[in-house]
Amino acid sequence: MPHVSRPRRTAGDFFPRSVPRRRPARIAGRIMKVRALRVGLAVLIVAASAAGAQASPPEPEVGRLRAHVATLAAPEYGGRRGEGGRKAAAYIEAAFRSYGLEPLFDGQFTQEIPGPQPGSVAGRNVGAYLAGSDPERRDEWIIVSAHFDHLGVINGVLYPGADDDASGVAMLLEVARCLSRQPEGVRRNVIVLAFDLEELGLFGSRWFVEHSPVPLDQVRLFITADMIGRALGGVCEPLAFVMGTENAPALRPWIEAAAQGRDVRIGLLGTDLLLVDRSDYGPFRARKIPYLFFSTGENPHYHRPSDTADTINYPKLEAISRVIYGVVRRAASADALPNWSPEPDHPVAEVAILRDVLRTLLDHREGLQIKPGTQFLMRNTLRSAEAVLKRGAMTSTERSVLLRAAQIIMFSIF
Ligand SMILES: [Zn+2]
Repeated sequence: MPHVSRPRRTAGDFFPRSVPRRRPARIAGRIMKVRALRVGLAVLIVAASAAGAQASPPEPEVGRLRAHVATLAAPEYGGRRGEGGRKAAAYIEAAFRSYGLEPLFDGQFTQEIPGPQPGSVAGRNVGAYLAGSDPERRDEWIIVSAHFDHLGVINGVLYPGADDDASGVAMLLEVARCLSRQPEGVRRNVIVLAFDLEELGLFGSRWFVEHSPVPLDQVRLFITADMIGRALGGVCEPLAFVMGTENAPALRPWIEAAAQGRDVRIGLLGTDLLLVDRSDYGPFRARKIPYLFFSTGENPHYHRPSDTADTINYPKLEAISRVIYGVVRRAASADALPNWSPEPDHPVAEVAILRDVLRTLLDHREGLQIKPGTQFLMRNTLRSAEAVLKRGAMTSTERSVLLRAAQIIMFSIF
């Protein structure tokens, strides 16, 4: 468990960079004695605070997101496995340090994951945290995460993993930066965590939950993003999917509010649409920790050498990063966070998302080379979905049938 104290911050973290912090003090020093200087400085601080209050609060920025993705997907990072993975971990640690965050693992920013040989290291998670200011909530933790590893270089071919998951790491670094810069701070502790070895079977997140530096029963919300820079099938714009609200429905209005006015449509889906745990939410879901999984879904570049930085949809990545940041800020400052609700709640709105996805995929059936048999199943499923939506209600049997069809369709296309 890490030592809980407020991160060291300087005035520079709180004031806009454009406020000249030295020059007025020099002028004041020439014309005032020490006591008057103090008054002058107080006035300056008030003025700077007012300027800070007027300036819009920090939010994830497209230029910074683009730069992070370009760096992490560059050939020097070797597809973020082996030496390239080490390099990526160092890059993330340097960013966390520069934001003034505290190390998560007993004074260290990294948690080593042992390999099969005694004494060997297979990888490392990178984590930092921002301490909560509310004494009544200082035992509570929120985790925001993304995995930084990818497939490496296979048979001499680089797999850059720009979407998978440099896009998620870019979001994570921007959320970390903005959190550390927001003047009001956070009420409960927020962890920013980059997992290694996700591609090998969620190995980094599994290791984390088995060797967590904080008590897992105090982790009140887990958020992860994996592949948030493209569109399902390369065509389902402007959709981004969020899974996990079925076990914490009270998070839905928070997501809705955070997505208001953004250039992205959030589609809430049940995680049971996926046949296996597809990302690092898995080990947290298994422990009944409320979680949110953000993804734009599989696309033609998935696990291919063509998953390059120049083909990411950066405005969309910015919009999703801002939605996640909005939810994190809300969760960090809320009076209470929703508990895990054991009986999953599946709203009919989920079927509207399914309907729209099916329609879009069918519109692109030639480009996606969807087989006639799959198209037949898609049209049938679409009709059932429309019937459910017309009625405005569905039974659990109806949902099971729709879900099974959707799983077969996704499996056949991707
Ligand atoms: Zn991934």
